[in-house]
Amino acid sequence: MPRTCQDGRFRRCGAAPAGVCQYFGKPFCAAHGAVYDDGQEVCRRKACAAKQADVARFLVYKTRALQRNAFGACGAEGCLAKFFGQCSRCKAVFCTDHVRETRESKVISAGSDKRMLAVCDFCRGRKAWR
Ligand SMILES: [Zn+2]
Ligand SMILES: [Zn+2]
Ligand SMILES: [Zn+2]
Ligand SMILES: [Zn+2]
Repeated sequence: MPRTCQDGRFRRCGAAPAGVCQYFGKPFCAAHGAVYDDGQEVCRRKACAAKQADVARFLVYKTRALQRNAFGACGAEGCLAKFFGQCSRCKAVFCTDHVRETRESKVISAGSDKRMLAVCDFCRGRKAWR
């Protein structure tokens, strides 16, 4: 694996790395990526920026949904229907309209809960990167 940044023109930047992209796994220099205060290291490749933006959007969504739950409302914006199920990804609770069971076969850790996974609309629309 190269020890220097491979971004830039012809992928030959060659500058000393400032970090290693958490998505791409390659080193990048200060000009071709960013190291964040919270420890994230992301290069500026489009795919990586898209993942990072998606994760950021997810966190905003999740925070808002949990806040709505705290007030007794469904996690979906503007919905005041009764709770029905908890989304297995964002952990917020939604009404029948806003959470659906999915056939995703993911092993639920010990305690062997065998029900289908419930996932809200937002989480279902996301790609499955962490
Ligand atoms: Zn570079
Ligand atoms: Zn990257
Ligand atoms: Zn969700
Ligand atoms: Zn709802």
